[in-house]
Amino acid sequence: MSLNMHLDGHLPSTHQLSPHWQYGEFPVLARQFTHYSSRDLWEADTARLPKALAKIRRAARGFAEQHIAPLASAADLAEHLPVGECLPDVQRLLIEAGKAGWLSYFMPAPLGSMPWQAVTQPPIWQCALVVEEFSRACGGLMLLLSAHHLGCMPLLLSGSPGAITRHLAPVYRSCLNGDPHLVAFAITEPGAGSDAEEGHGAEVYRPGVVATPAPGGYLLNGRKCFISGGDLAKSATVFAALQGEGMDSWTCFYVDADSPGYSIARTEMKMGMRASGAAELEFNNVFVPNGRLIGGLRKGWALNRATLNASRIPVAAMGVGLARAATELAVDFARRYKLGGKELIHYQDVQLHLATMVAETRAIRSLIWQEAKHAWKPRQLNASLCKFHATDRAQHVVEMALDLLADHGSLHEQRIEKIFRDVRLTRIFEGTNQINRLSLIEDWQEQLLPLDSHSPIVGV
Ligand SMILES: Cc1cc2nc3c(=O)[nH]c(=O)nc-3n(C[C@H](O)[C@H](O)[C@H](O)COP(=O)(O)OP(=O)(O)OC[C@H]3O[C@@H](n4cnc5c(N)ncnc54)[C@H](O)[C@@H]3O)c2cc1C
Repeated sequence: MSLNMHLDGHLPSTHQLSPHWQYGEFPVLARQFTHYSSRDLWEADTARLPKALAKIRRAARGFAEQHIAPLASAADLAEHLPVGECLPDVQRLLIEAGKAGWLSYFMPAPLGSMPWQAVTQPPIWQCALVVEEFSRACGGLMLLLSAHHLGCMPLLLSGSPGAITRHLAPVYRSCLNGDPHLVAFAITEPGAGSDAEEGHGAEVYRPGVVATPAPGGYLLNGRKCFISGGDLAKSATVFAALQGEGMDSWTCFYVDADSPGYSIARTEMKMGMRASGAAELEFNNVFVPNGRLIGGLRKGWALNRATLNASRIPVAAMGVGLARAATELAVDFARRYKLGGKELIHYQDVQLHLATMVAETRAIRSLIWQEAKHAWKPRQLNASLCKFHATDRAQHVVEMALDLLADHGSLHEQRIEKIFRDVRLTRIFEGTNQINRLSLIEDWQEQLLPLDSHSPIVGV
């Protein structure tokens, strides 16, 4: 672009009143305190990350642009496939993603694919960076790849060397060897989503998947629903209550999908993220040996909460990726589309609109990086706050893009309508955003009590 070019209402950077030009004239010392850059924002942000994470962010973007984005539309528009079937291109994507290490990066080599330089940073941060890049390319394919990490999380968070070496390491190895082994995470039941995730309703909920003791293990019976990737997963971390007991007996079982009695009843035809199947799993006397009990008997509730606290920050990052995609498309449209003889981008009200979209997207990313950077032990309040705030704001950004594109936005080829369908789901799964707001209050309640206290609340 010529330096003399400028948008209507703005001075070119060569103008004498432009800081860009004036800063160049400052004495050397003064130039140490002034900055004007036309550097790409993504590059500038990446350069500020710790080196290992910057490398991962670049690699994730490269993979997303090369392997995910080209499949996004076809995977979204594909017919609702019979259970267990997968588009050949999507199967190839899973193989490539596995070989490239995108399905095993929560552990360093030789167990997984996390680069050793990255082990000093919380893996949640790495995951948030990857998820943003993948979501930007396609919400559905991102969910297909990311739900696997959710499934693996209880194995990792159980802290059990046995669970990690006997179960997780072979999963990772298989993915790295080009034979993708997806793991699903199964908590939701036909009668309970929120009740299976949060304490409010769980206290009175009668669990739907029940484990009955049998010689050498347990027999699982019941159904789980809306399980992402459950149609393709080779194994699942399944949460079940013990026969005759309530949710406080919840226990995590690591179940092979080819166990007798395990079946996939159906997959849902859903509005968005259509490349990822939402499966209903059925357990009919599925025998799970004691060695596949994860995290201890009756410890499932805590393990589930720890898993959600770890995964809600990456879910927030899905919002950032989708908001960013919408903003990029809106900017692109505003640069190309002409109204009244000039491109939309020259109208100052369009510039105000775009500035808000950029600010919203960058603000939620800042929030997530700030929290993820300290997320060795993610706290419920912080994770829930990221999840509901980022995904709410992301949807707002996507709607702003739709406002700008107007009738064009309703066309599939413009991609915004798909992003709109995808982003809406981030406000539902991993607990609805209403439930995540209640989680924040639950975590905070000791500071809110006793209600008759006159001492002020500090620390918001
Ligand atoms: C695309 C997609 C992927 C998913 N993937 C998975 C997965 O991989 N694994 C898995 O286990 N689950 C998965 N789910 C399920 C998801 O986690 C649940 O849908 C979600 O937690 C909400 O539960 P629910 O739909 O049963 O809503 P419900 O719990 O039935 O809630 C219905 C309404 O009541 C409100 N509500 C509930 N309790 C309260 C309360 N105490 N106070 C006030 N309001 C309340 C909710 O906010 C909501 O508006 C997925 C869902 C979707 C849509």
